[in-house]
Amino acid sequence: MTELVSKWNYPTTVRFGAGRIKELPEVLEATGIANPLFVTDPGLARLPVVASTLKILNDANIPHGVFSDVKPNPVEANLTAGIAVFKQGGHDGVIAFGGGSALDLGKLIAFQAGQTRPVWDFEDIGDWWTRADAASIAPIIAVPTTAGTGSEVGRAGVITNEATHTKKVIFHPKLLPAIVIADPELSVGMPPFITAGTGMDALAHCLEAYCAPGYHPMADGIAVEGIRLVFENLPKAFADGSDLTARAHMMSAAAMGATAFQKGLGAIHSLSHPIGAIYDTHHGMTNAVFMPYVLAFNRPAIEPRIERLASYIGIAGGFDGFADAILNLRRQLDVPHALGGLIKDLDMSEDQKERIAAMAIVDPTAGGNPVELTKEAALKLLNEAIAG
Ligand code: NAD
Repeated sequence: MTELVSKWNYPTTVRFGAGRIKELPEVLEATGIANPLFVTDPGLARLPVVASTLKILNDANIPHGVFSDVKPNPVEANLTAGIAVFKQGGHDGVIAFGGGSALDLGKLIAFQAGQTRPVWDFEDIGDWWTRADAASIAPIIAVPTTAGTGSEVGRAGVITNEATHTKKVIFHPKLLPAIVIADPELSVGMPPFITAGTGMDALAHCLEAYCAPGYHPMADGIAVEGIRLVFENLPKAFADGSDLTARAHMMSAAAMGATAFQKGLGAIHSLSHPIGAIYDTHHGMTNAVFMPYVLAFNRPAIEPRIERLASYIGIAGGFDGFADAILNLRRQLDVPHALGGLIKDLDMSEDQKERIAAMAIVDPTAGGNPVELTKEAALKLLNEAIAG
């Protein structure tokens, strides 16, 4: 693994490489955190990967608290509870440790603990982020244990508003972690379903960013290489979770996806967000289900672009070849072809479909879709994903 070790300062400092979690004490010192709150989720909290990381803190005599009341697709109650623990423990920073759910919640605790306005006032709309008291935001160290969301290199946190059943993206430049430890050894314990879902999330980020309109050659370059890494490594990581090289490349692809999607996302996410908020499905798996339908829908606007991408990755057959490769990748990863494979006893009424389509077109990601996502189009895509 020696060749897969590096230090990046773009978009933030990333200490990348197997075994680098042992550098946590010096990372805390570099960030000026003396008494961190370690935020993770209850599933991970029971796994050796958390015990061994907490041992690193204990061995270095670093006082810390642990908060793990974080559900997948975290909600405001998780944030409120986390802030109470943060304040009660007199913590001065956060170690966000886990998949996107724990990373986002950890980041939001560091952000929101010092604010006086409700978290919903900082949704990623216009310049709402300037409402925040930036000086009171605590520093964040992010340690991903999945390879998908890329939240470790992002300036946003996603939280579900249970009152409205909507996923809200909270944005502030200081939600970007000060330092990331990206240690692929931490991701080897991911079960196949999570490996597949998170990996497809990384692919969805890269693909939608690449297809979003607008000039951003840096994002485009990062996205195409991220897509290549997913095609080459996700099936390997899925088939053999202990393949550390495949895990490492997937961890890179995840960070690349989130770096690229500052250019924009699209209809995969616009549809996946309401489904995730209402049915509590896994975010990446939901993206994976919608992917081929949205790709076909966007074809008139993206065909030459996808042909270029296919030739870079080495997929023959232009757009059709790429679309087949996506279907083939989904099959290899046991991704359901229809939504019913994700949601038990799915029997969606016409009213419910209308409601989801209406939510999709106002999702902030809808504006990045290369073909306008009208309500009729969202409804058609939803029906296709239900029919399979
Ligand atoms: P997750 O964080 O919800 O974790 C899924 C499950 O995997 C959990 O049960 C967890 O315990 C388990 N798990 C995590 N790491 C493991 C490991 N190494 N070994 C064994 N089990 C492990 O899943 P996710 O896909 O990483 O994150 C999804 C969340 O991220 C959603 O809330 C989504 O909305 C959000 N998200 C955020 C951004 C962003 O930019 N901030 C982007 C995409 C998605």
